[in-house]
Parts: sequence; structure tokens; C-alpha cells
Amino acid sequence: MTVDFKAEFEKRKDDFMADLISLLEINSERDDSKADKEHPFGPGPVKALHHFLAMAERDGYKTRNIDNYAGDFEYGEGDEVLGIFAHLDVVPAGSGWETDPYKPVIKDGRLYARGSSDDKGPTMACYYGLKIIKELGLPVSRKVRFVVGTDEESGWGDMDYYFAHNGLKNPDFGFSPDADFPIINGEKGNITEYLHFDGKNEGLVVLHSFNGGLRENMVPESATAVISGSVSAQEVSDLLANFVASHKVTGQVVENDGKLEVTIYGKSAHGSTPEEGVNGATLLGLFLSQFDFYGPAKAYIEVTASLHNDFAGEKLGVAYTDDKMGPLSMNAGVFRFDENSSDNTIALNFRYPKGTDELKIKEELSKIAGPKAITISDSHHTPHYVPMDDELVETLLSVYEKQTGLKGHEQVIGGGTFGRLLERGVAFGAMFPDSINTMHQANEFMALDDLYRAAAIYAEAIYELIK
Ligand code: ZN
Ligand code: ZN
Repeated sequence: MTVDFKAEFEKRKDDFMADLISLLEINSERDDSKADKEHPFGPGPVKALHHFLAMAERDGYKTRNIDNYAGDFEYGEGDEVLGIFAHLDVVPAGSGWETDPYKPVIKDGRLYARGSSDDKGPTMACYYGLKIIKELGLPVSRKVRFVVGTDEESGWGDMDYYFAHNGLKNPDFGFSPDADFPIINGEKGNITEYLHFDGKNEGLVVLHSFNGGLRENMVPESATAVISGSVSAQEVSDLLANFVASHKVTGQVVENDGKLEVTIYGKSAHGSTPEEGVNGATLLGLFLSQFDFYGPAKAYIEVTASLHNDFAGEKLGVAYTDDKMGPLSMNAGVFRFDENSSDNTIALNFRYPKGTDELKIKEELSKIAGPKAITISDSHHTPHYVPMDDELVETLLSVYEKQTGLKGHEQVIGGGTFGRLLERGVAFGAMFPDSINTMHQANEFMALDDLYRAAAIYAEAIYELIK
């Protein structure tokens, strides 16, 4: 059966816009200050969930509300189930908006509102994709389960609860309309490991403290060390001036109470792309490694220096590349050293492909001279990858290619989407390669044409997967 999905969507465009706008008018930011048993993430996400489920009931689906954490409904017949995982919560609107983030405005072919592109717009485009299949009564041999969560932007507490309490067997395969076309079929593993050092040191030069970095998933923009001993302020200032000039960064030396505060300013970047930043902390370690520190301080400085520009973990001995998922990457994210502390740390955040793991990384880190112990963070994402020859990936890409005329290809990212909830799960749309991505920003918008294009792609993709 051939169906013109674009034409079918066109007939429903006005209804689609009305439904989407009514959903965007609900402020569904997480608000823990108003959270209680009935509203696990605050009242906003619950309101959006009720609104969505009422709409699905209106359209003839039998819906389930899983204790205000998430909701779902099923369509079709058959043993196998296609899962679609979307989310109704939004990140806080923040400041800098030219319009009210919860009064949607259409301007120059763009729909402005918090959630327009992440994720209410794509959610509704996908919902209308399924609605077309239902209203045309197309023959299907599999089920679809449409699941909406209310806590994707924070801790995924919605999906933890959903999988533990919804009572049905998990879908066999699925996708999340919450990222990019053509597809995201791989997500690297994400683990942080900590190097621990003692603090005591009595060399000719003493390291009193060393601090750099705010978060493990960010490149430290700057770092500051406090030192004293057989070095003069003038000497250190002169050496630093040459050093920062040769590394094209800036720095300063401030004398305070007979001690020297040495700071280097680099450039921050996301921890999954450390090569795009300049790590102020490892650079400061490199600069300080010329002075006569002693004991644990010497080890701390030498290890810090050795991490500089080791984005692939080659010097650490943890480098690994998978031919599908690409290379491991390392961000030296947070540095905390105090001479009076017996637990000083360096936090290393790794994004790693299949073929290596947190224990292999730890084993290599244990061979470094200096640290007294290595530990691993509690939060951990293992690598996720669905091969190109999986029917799911092949079908989604072929529909994308057919409707857009663009070439489909695989994409592996360092971040995480609901696609990873299922072993055979991917993210699919709704940003196109030429879309302007304003997710999480002020004045978030989604181009109307992108919403319409996505809805027709979702309709055909769902039909191809369940027919
Ligand atoms: Zn999202
Ligand atoms: Zn988001």
C-alpha cells in the first residue's frame, strides 16, 4: 500500500498546531520545591502529562498514567512491540527571552516557545505520525507503545519508575524523537575515575594548594596554585610571562602573605570534546613542573603536567578506538589539592567506545607513579550501539533518505538520549542537518517546516516498522 504521508499530514496540520500550542502553554519545568508524592517532579510535568493523555483519550487510545511519573498507550496488534520514548518536561526557561516562553509565538516560519524543539514539538510530530496510521486504518502486524516521560532533563527518574512499575514486557525495539536526523545509533560510555594523593610536602618549593575546574564534564577554564619557598615573585612572573606567551593563553602571579598565587587562564569546552578547549589546570601543572617540589606535591604536579593534551589517553595507556564507535576521549576535569588534606584528587572523565571498560581504564591508571589510590564514580553509562544492519536502523534511514533526498549515515555521540533505554534503541530526529539547534537556549524555536517534514517522516517510519 502506498500512502502519501506528506499529503496526509498536510490535511491535519491545523489540528497538529492547535494541539502542540496547547501543550507548549504548560510550564513543565521540574520544581523540587513543590514536589510531593502526587507530583514527583513538581506540578508542571504532571499537568503536561495529564494534558497529553487526555488528548490521546480524545483520539481513541486507552491510556495509562504510571503514578504521574510517565504515561503510555498502545496501538496495533501483534507480539512484537515498537517503543517510542518522548518527554514532556522542559529545562528552565532562564532569562534572555524576547517573548514569553510559555506563550507560543509564530514568527518568520518559526514557532518560539520553551519545548518547541526539545521535546514537545518532536513528540507531537511523532504523535501525529501515528495518528495518521490509525485514522487511515493501515494494516499492521506489530504494536506501538507510545511512552512519554516527565523527567528526561534531570535524572531520568521517570524512566527508572516506568520500567520498574508499568507491568508490561519491555518493547522489543524503539526510538526516541529527541535528537538529530539522520539517526543517533551509538552513545559512548561515560565514567569518571579519581586519582588520590596525600598532601604533605616539604620541598625547596612548597605547594599549598592547587584548584582547577568546576565540573567533571567541562574543561577547566582556569586553575590557581599557591606556592612558596626558594622562588621570588619576580622570577616566577618572568617565567610565567614566557610560558603563557608560548602557549597563547594568559596568566598572573599575585604575592599574598609571602606566598605566590599563580593562575593560568585557558578556555572551557564540553567534556566530551576536550580538544576544543585549553585545559588551564594541566597547563598550570606543566608550568609548575620546573620547580623543586617534593613528595606527594611533586607527584601531583607531575601527573597533572603529564595529562596536558592527552585527549585520547595515549600517555595514560588507556587509548582505545572501536572502528564503529570511534576513539576514547579523556577530560581532566576537576583538580583539588590542599597541603593539609590527606585526600587530594584529580577527576578524569572518560567517554569510551565498546571494547574497553571502566576496569581496564582503572588497571592502566593504577600503573601511574604517584597516586596512592584510584576510585571510580557511582554514576556510569555503558556504551550503547545498534549496528547499521539492524532492521530498525535500516528502516529509519531508508525512510529518511526517501523523504529528504539526503544520504543517511550513522552517528555516535558522547551524550545520552532515551534511545539507550532499549538494547535495540536509537534516537531519530527531529533536528535536520540544516536546522538551527536552539535546545536549552533562550528564544528556543523550531522551524514549522521542520516540524511538518518530521511528522511525515515519523508517520512513514512507524508504518514501515509495524506493517
Ligand atoms: Zn530532550
Ligand atoms: Zn533537553
